[in-house]
Amino acid sequence: MTFELTDYLPYDFANRRHIGPSPSEMAEMLAAVGADSLDTLIDRVVPSEIRQEKPLAWGKALSEREMLFRMRRVAEKNQVLTSLIGQGYYDTVTPPAIQRNILENPAWYTAYTPYQPEIAQGRLEALLNFQTMVSDLTGLAVANASLLDEATAAAEAMTMAHRLAKSKATAFFVDHHCHPQNIALVRTRAEPLGIEVIVGDPFADLDASAVFGALFQYPGTLGHVDDFSAPVAALHEAGAIACMAADPLALALLKSPGEMGADIAVGSTQRFGVPMGFGGPHAAYMATKDEYKRAMPGRIVGVSIDARGNRAYRLALQTREQHIRREKATSNVCTAQALPAVLASMYAVFHGPEGIKAIAQRIHRKTVRLAKGLERLGYTVEPAVFFDTITVDVGAVQGVVLEAARREGVNLRKIGSTRIGISLDERTRPDTLEAVWRAFGGDFRDADMTPEYRLPSAMLRDSAYLEHPIFHMNRAESEMTRYMRRLADRDLALDRAMIPLGSCTMKLNATAEMMPITWREFSDIHPYVPEDQVAGYRELIADLSAKLCQITGYDAISMQPNSGAQGEYAGLLTIRAYHRARGEGHRDICLIPTSAHGTNPASAVMAGMKVVVVKAADNGDIDVDDFRAKAEAHSANLAACMVTYPSTHGVFERTVRDICDITHEHGGQVYLDGANLNALVGLARPGDIGSDVSHLNLHKTFCIPHGGGGPGMGPIGLKSHLEPYLPGRPETGDAGAVSAANWGSASILPISWAYCLMMGGEGLTQATKVAILSANYIAKRLAGAYDILYHSPEGYVAHECIVDTRPLSQTAWVTVDDIAKRLMDCGFHAPTMSWPVPGTLMIEPTESETKAEIDRFITAMLAIREEARDIEEGRIDKDNNPLKHAPHTVEDLVGEWDRPYSREQACFPPGAFRVDKYWPPVNRVDNVHGDRHLICSCPPVENYAEAAE
Ligand SMILES: *Cc1c(COP(=O)(O)O)cnc(C)c1O
Repeated sequence: MTFELTDYLPYDFANRRHIGPSPSEMAEMLAAVGADSLDTLIDRVVPSEIRQEKPLAWGKALSEREMLFRMRRVAEKNQVLTSLIGQGYYDTVTPPAIQRNILENPAWYTAYTPYQPEIAQGRLEALLNFQTMVSDLTGLAVANASLLDEATAAAEAMTMAHRLAKSKATAFFVDHHCHPQNIALVRTRAEPLGIEVIVGDPFADLDASAVFGALFQYPGTLGHVDDFSAPVAALHEAGAIACMAADPLALALLKSPGEMGADIAVGSTQRFGVPMGFGGPHAAYMATKDEYKRAMPGRIVGVSIDARGNRAYRLALQTREQHIRREKATSNVCTAQALPAVLASMYAVFHGPEGIKAIAQRIHRKTVRLAKGLERLGYTVEPAVFFDTITVDVGAVQGVVLEAARREGVNLRKIGSTRIGISLDERTRPDTLEAVWRAFGGDFRDADMTPEYRLPSAMLRDSAYLEHPIFHMNRAESEMTRYMRRLADRDLALDRAMIPLGSCTMKLNATAEMMPITWREFSDIHPYVPEDQVAGYRELIADLSAKLCQITGYDAISMQPNSGAQGEYAGLLTIRAYHRARGEGHRDICLIPTSAHGTNPASAVMAGMKVVVVKAADNGDIDVDDFRAKAEAHSANLAACMVTYPSTHGVFERTVRDICDITHEHGGQVYLDGANLNALVGLARPGDIGSDVSHLNLHKTFCIPHGGGGPGMGPIGLKSHLEPYLPGRPETGDAGAVSAANWGSASILPISWAYCLMMGGEGLTQATKVAILSANYIAKRLAGAYDILYHSPEGYVAHECIVDTRPLSQTAWVTVDDIAKRLMDCGFHAPTMSWPVPGTLMIEPTESETKAEIDRFITAMLAIREEARDIEEGRIDKDNNPLKHAPHTVEDLVGEWDRPYSREQACFPPGAFRVDKYWPPVNRVDNVHGDRHLICSCPPVENYAEAAE
């Protein structure tokens, strides 16, 4: 018997997995936009003058199984040793229930940043738990919902201290016992701002009157546990601010920074169950005194009420966010570390205060035992007082001992040329201690087990922490699993519906791409291991970099920046260093169009540049005349311009080459914000267009999930002339480093690499084309009901479109907020709201959404237009209608109902599912109430009832 092969593409074929519309759906969409083929459409949309000549090519696209096989082979080239290197990174145990139910659960990892609080109550609660945990452990009143890493947080603490200090001094003191990467990042950040950094011994070298602030490490990088109360008091006396970088696990035993009077505490929550991952991602924290909360960078979750007076969480103080503050911004942190923060908070929920304390005590006891063994061998162990880290001076045999330890499967820390550092952790077992002793020349098992502390009682903590009931749940796994499930169910993530966020590219995060991140060969590696242990990572990074170079037309990539904004900052620092190296260090003007993302001006200011704003023309493009005039006016001092391409207005501007040429003519460098690369991959390359450096948001274009507000990766690509100025190595204390680890959040790079492997060059190009088709399809279908704000002269948009909802506020008193909230009733996450144009919605469907899902969204948007028409034409009251009361909850199904529309219309508008209806857990959240009564930690249980008053 014979059969004909069908041409059906199985699921395990990249184009079917990542590309939503089926071939027949695509044909219908093309008909709607009036193009006879995808290529005809692309030729009309993407200007021919910027099209790339050669297609992307790196061989055949791999199937899932082929990719996983290749990934496995690469992973096996990494050697997983037990790393006792410390220096801010420690082995930890991720409770399996947390790993499976959060880290590996798309309901958690595919969520967006919680800007729409009504559909984000689950992760907002988890982040509030995080803040409560940090605030308790540090003894400070207010904590934020995460920063990128401890070193960036230390640099943020310095600039915050600069803003707050009464002292007019311009120097900042850094404890010589800070981790080298913290010193490096403080130096990087200080230099362009003209801040002098003094590194020294806080107990000998600190002249409090000469500085506006100081940073102490607690415990110190060599293990010291010092009471900083005296230097803190001296700083306060001089009107200066005291910052401490503190290990939260040590704080379970030790006197807290708050009890020593510190004003700001920062640190990493990595060892709360988040694997080292060769550098990240992990959540850094920042906490401060109540009086300083308004100066704190990053997002803060706060407690408010909804329209029924029920308790509801939201992001507090949002008006301080950098997209509002722009060139007045003091920090550029946008994407942070929401998912790692959730993981760390759950670790605390799982263990509770007794569990955390027991873990800390055991680590200390093991360290005491290790020290006793070493002392028995005749070594002098330093310091006398320690928590989990000790240092031994072994003199000339340093290399021999380190090598012996490595042969035992243990990495120790090399300090200088004679000393060795050892840090123990939750996973250290008796045989690890024996292996270390053997490396130091002793073969014994029974070092004295007397459980004594090497912490003076004056340093021990007697204040309580984690007292809130959330940290005292019944720890039966059934209960914990249900808690995580309950929170996940409150949220709307990509596993339920399209999240059409303009500029944020919320596309598929394929399961096969996610699987490798929890393989121990990727997750259990310390960021500072010898390079010969990470051949697999190096191969992966080299190959991904080569592909990204091919995609962007750049010559080199740095993987160090761990968010888009950090990429901007790193890129601008390379431009700054380039000018200085050429004797043109005076160049400090950065031209930025009004439509730029708020992180652009914020990063420019951080890099020591002055922002000159360029106008937009009526059609939304950069006003080339204004651009030229400003470039000429500042010709002598022009450092750079920052442009986004395609523009944040969702249009391929024809003048982008002119903008690059003008910048170069006046001696400036072009920074092209690569956040919109999803519209370019395979079709056009920033490097060919004339740009010198860009960041790529791997958490947008390259499938790293958004995690509810992070992690992300923002590597920069640049031309060869900028390559000498790439960020330096953080772990050795190099100024110029921008992240705590050289390859940023390395452990999520396999996601982007897997995407490239499974798509192949052709698949990636197809994805770009379909993303453009889908955006044009939406624009066309909505055009009758709403104005599409910007498009090319031929009437096309790029990969996103801006829907102008402002007229409705005039005719129907309907705001963009009302529309966003009503979309929740329809089971959707709102598009980007009021950016880049206030009062509008920016929609980006991405290539991943099927036509059916896009149509469901269109149906919802059209129905909302009709509801507005009912108001316009007087059929329903302007203040009492489904738009004003949106979103509706199950509360609206019961009790009194006196509204002029039905419960049916309220809860099941077009687009909403019947059986699979998504129910927002709260009605509309009251923002003003939340900011007036700022509460940023778990409210006391009594308040749970009061909130409903
Ligand atoms: C998302 C975005 C950024 C910032 O990236 P983060 O990773 O959030 O720091 C910068 N520019 C544009 C246009 C963006 O969309």
